[in-house]
Amino acid sequence: MRHFARFIAKAIAFLSPVLKQGGGTSAPGLALLKLDPKAITRMANGLSDGRIVISATNGKTTTTRILSKITDNAKISSVSNTAGANLKSGIATTLLRRSPSHKLGVFEVDEGVLPEIVTEIKPNIIVLMNLFRDQLDRYGELEKIRENWKSMIDGLPECTKLLVNADDPSLVFAALGHPNLVFFGLGETRYALESIPHASDSSQCPRCNNQLQYSQITISHMGDWHCTQCGLSRPDLDFEAIEIQLQGVERIKFKVLSRTGEEVIEAKLPGLYNVYNALAAFTAARQLNIEAAVAQTAIASVNAAFGRTESIQLADKDLTLLLAKNPAGANSNLDTLLLHPDKFHLAVLLNDRIADGRDVSWIWDVDYEKIFHKIESMHVGGERAYDLALRFMYGGYSTERITVNDKIGHLIDCLMTETPSNETIFVLPSYTAMLDLRAELVNRGLTHDFWEEEL
Ligand SMILES: [Zn+2]
Repeated sequence: MRHFARFIAKAIAFLSPVLKQGGGTSAPGLALLKLDPKAITRMANGLSDGRIVISATNGKTTTTRILSKITDNAKISSVSNTAGANLKSGIATTLLRRSPSHKLGVFEVDEGVLPEIVTEIKPNIIVLMNLFRDQLDRYGELEKIRENWKSMIDGLPECTKLLVNADDPSLVFAALGHPNLVFFGLGETRYALESIPHASDSSQCPRCNNQLQYSQITISHMGDWHCTQCGLSRPDLDFEAIEIQLQGVERIKFKVLSRTGEEVIEAKLPGLYNVYNALAAFTAARQLNIEAAVAQTAIASVNAAFGRTESIQLADKDLTLLLAKNPAGANSNLDTLLLHPDKFHLAVLLNDRIADGRDVSWIWDVDYEKIFHKIESMHVGGERAYDLALRFMYGGYSTERITVNDKIGHLIDCLMTETPSNETIFVLPSYTAMLDLRAELVNRGLTHDFWEEEL
């Protein structure tokens, strides 16, 4: 029966890219789990060099991608769900496709299913990066995830190594007490925010609920924090990013300070959030005893995951996609756009399908106003284009300067004809709007399908 289940699932795995069903990243696993619910545990047992899981609201896909690249460069044969299929079905599909030579698993895991996956996969290393309020869960889901993570950590075997972003107070609170902890975070940086963005809602002490104090805020509620009431504070950092340089919308450079010395990290990824991603991957790599130099070279060669921060040539214009799925991600993207030296053309795309969140009111938590002075031309698109136009109008942006295109093809036509040569277009899409835009660009032969992507 088990063999039959795997045969059926493998047949689906073979057929689904051909049928264009999401690149076949989830359907085979879904079929397998229906026929054999314990398949993940059994298949994961075969990964004799270990299993690493990475979870977060934002950045898990990129971090997993970076760590996979590092393990490849270190000649460790590893399997990873780098296509972003991070629910049980996606992980089952990844395991189904693994070759017998794969000895290590590197998995990004959706924050909601993390405790369940941890029970089934029994990871040696867990990387916890951040928890932000998502556009999908404005009604208490985040609190439930925090509680579930804490229970999960309380139940971990002592040997499980927990790598925790110390800049996120709730993760530290959940992790304290576990005997095998490694903390990473950002040292003093000139890119700190002046105050907590109003989209943030997690600046209360996770232990006593008092308002937290910050000597530095990096993204949303993250930074160097302490509580004046109960004394809880950011722990000492085992891996600390220092001398951070954000080099425009293209690159970052920083040093990692750890017990073993200082290492320079350079990456072709923009923004402070990618400093966190690269730092988390580097920290994980060092736990695997991968040499720093191997990790450095690998990180320098990584490109952004498809649609995350992807540049596409649109005739003689440069189009860069910056995906955001929630206010914290969107605000970080805006901070990154401020690093662009010149004015730019902007297209913001919003859909309200299930993967985007049906409730689009999250756009009111994004501080778009701070980039208004950099915008040369403004296009809005997607199924909820008019909500965006309204948002910008209330922000004080002249409606006469907004072009509304609710058809993706028309939007591309307008961007191509109206943007002067050699100028830059930034596109800020919601998740399914990004998929729609990419599909149209693929149709026009301007980029490739994401399952054709190579690391
Ligand atoms: Zn407190």
